[in-house]
Amino acid sequence: MDLEKIEKPEMIFDGIAAAPGIAFGEAFVINVEDLSVDDERIGAGQVADEVSRFESALVATEKELKDLAHVLEEEMGKEHTKILDSHILMLSDEVMRKETVDMISAEQVSAPCAFHRVIEKTLSVFDQIEDQYLKERSEDVRDVRRRVIRNLLGQKINGLINLRKEAIVVGKNLTPSDTMGFKRKYVKAFVSDLGGSTSHAAIVARSHGIPAVVGVDGFSAHAKPYDKLIVDGTAGQVVLNPSPDTVKLYKVALSRLKLLETELLTLKNYPAVTLDGRKIELSGNIEMVDELDDVISHGAKGIGLFRTEYFFMGRGTLPGEEEQYKFYCNVVSRIAPDPVIVRTLDIGGDKFANWFDDRPEENPFMGWRGIRFTLSRKDIFRTQLRAIYRAAAHGQVRIMFPMVSVVDEVRAALAICDEVKEDLHRERYQYGKDVEVGIMIETPSAVALADHLAKEVDFFSIGSNDLVQYTLAVDRGNSRIAYLYDELHPSIIRMINDTVQAAHKNNIWAGLCGEMTASVGVHGTLLLIGAGLDELSAPAFLIPEVKKIIRSVTYDETKTLFKKALKKATSAEIRILIDKFLRDKRPDLQEFAIKSRNQ
Ligand code: PEP
Ligand code: MG
Repeated sequence: MDLEKIEKPEMIFDGIAAAPGIAFGEAFVINVEDLSVDDERIGAGQVADEVSRFESALVATEKELKDLAHVLEEEMGKEHTKILDSHILMLSDEVMRKETVDMISAEQVSAPCAFHRVIEKTLSVFDQIEDQYLKERSEDVRDVRRRVIRNLLGQKINGLINLRKEAIVVGKNLTPSDTMGFKRKYVKAFVSDLGGSTSHAAIVARSHGIPAVVGVDGFSAHAKPYDKLIVDGTAGQVVLNPSPDTVKLYKVALSRLKLLETELLTLKNYPAVTLDGRKIELSGNIEMVDELDDVISHGAKGIGLFRTEYFFMGRGTLPGEEEQYKFYCNVVSRIAPDPVIVRTLDIGGDKFANWFDDRPEENPFMGWRGIRFTLSRKDIFRTQLRAIYRAAAHGQVRIMFPMVSVVDEVRAALAICDEVKEDLHRERYQYGKDVEVGIMIETPSAVALADHLAKEVDFFSIGSNDLVQYTLAVDRGNSRIAYLYDELHPSIIRMINDTVQAAHKNNIWAGLCGEMTASVGVHGTLLLIGAGLDELSAPAFLIPEVKKIIRSVTYDETKTLFKKALKKATSAEIRILIDKFLRDKRPDLQEFAIKSRNQ
């Protein structure tokens, strides 16, 4: 029987529509789990073979790591290869080699078993070390062990960085370290078992225009490497082993979406202004510099959220002032004269770095994150602020603090800004003197204190991703409760209203840089216009859609719609209200909403 010819059955999986678009391709399954190793005995005659098997695995692992370091260096610079360099060093540890070889011959066990035991011993030493930094290096040791054992067992590690041809990436969860250094040209789509619409993989996918479906329960266990897949990130569906008829249907849907995209791009040079003349600043969100071209080509006026923490991740040491200065300068001068909102380091939550040396937390999203971290590591904060203020001499920069929950945090951060400016002045550096400083409104306490906070800063930017998470007590990355993660929840609509009102009463402007425009589409954007927000910042590929919506309505009618939404008790009622508005007042936009969501 020719097994190749047996057709695998088509299976359809539903998940969360995390980034729009349709992709066809083969699965590239990334595996990050620990390998189990049996206590395998060998005969006396096999010892020499096992030893040479072990030596070959070390050589293969070293080559693998060096290749990886080379790719990473080309993609992201030398600084990012430091972790791999330390892994290569571990491989040449003579004590570890000798102990493994001795154990193979003395105890007559297989090479994987001996190596596993030797590393286990090292790890138990790490467990007894007091020094937190050293303790956490045990993860590196585990990483090296995983690689060596995979090579001993003849299995390949599938990290995203190994991707050398176009594929659809499938994994249990796609964490920041999984996606670090990935090559966009090879990634046709993402599918993950876990995650929500604002978890890391969803944000990265949207920023790069890669279709993604997350929260597809158990999918990675079904998909085998090279299985054929269709990912519909617009409707939130994944088809495994699609039949020829299904492929045909999706090809038609894809060409419809492409047509819509081309139509939307014709708006690129038009302003984001409502039919009755209200102008909204429409800017882009970025994580890395390589997203700048997309932001510009999709018609954004500036950057409304520059998530600087990504520059601090995937590296062994902190970037210094000069390195950061050059990095920010590049973005600022390419976007000038439009503004760039540089958000200070928002490490913590689900974003960690190798230099981040604190003990693991029970609830990292509620923990040492954002401004809490930078205020307790003033050395890191000052260095970043110095670099940002210096870059501000080359364009229009605004600074924004994340995760504010207490007025004192803002006051303390502003005092550091003043000190930094004084230092730069004294040291005769060029720096931006009129940099606006604002905060993200992303905790319920910041909303409740918005009238006080507005007196301290120049602007607010609502972080709807976290505001929803903290208000509704729904972990934004947890697919199990993703049905509760709802940006149209009445409490969120009220909080947006309170924030905008407090800002305007105190003569400051208010924007929104969460992914609400992206994940709720037409419904969410209509409410945000009606709420009176002055600025909206969205992932590059969503900017034309948001602009189209802004240009299709009057501010007046969305204001009325928003006021009605404020009176509703459930998000279902809010959706019905908006559906009715679309049907009665803007059927063209209703049709667009259906088309753009591939319904
Ligand atoms: C937010 O919380 O809405 C936000 C924009 O920040 P991040 O997604 O980076 O937490
Ligand atoms: Mg946030």
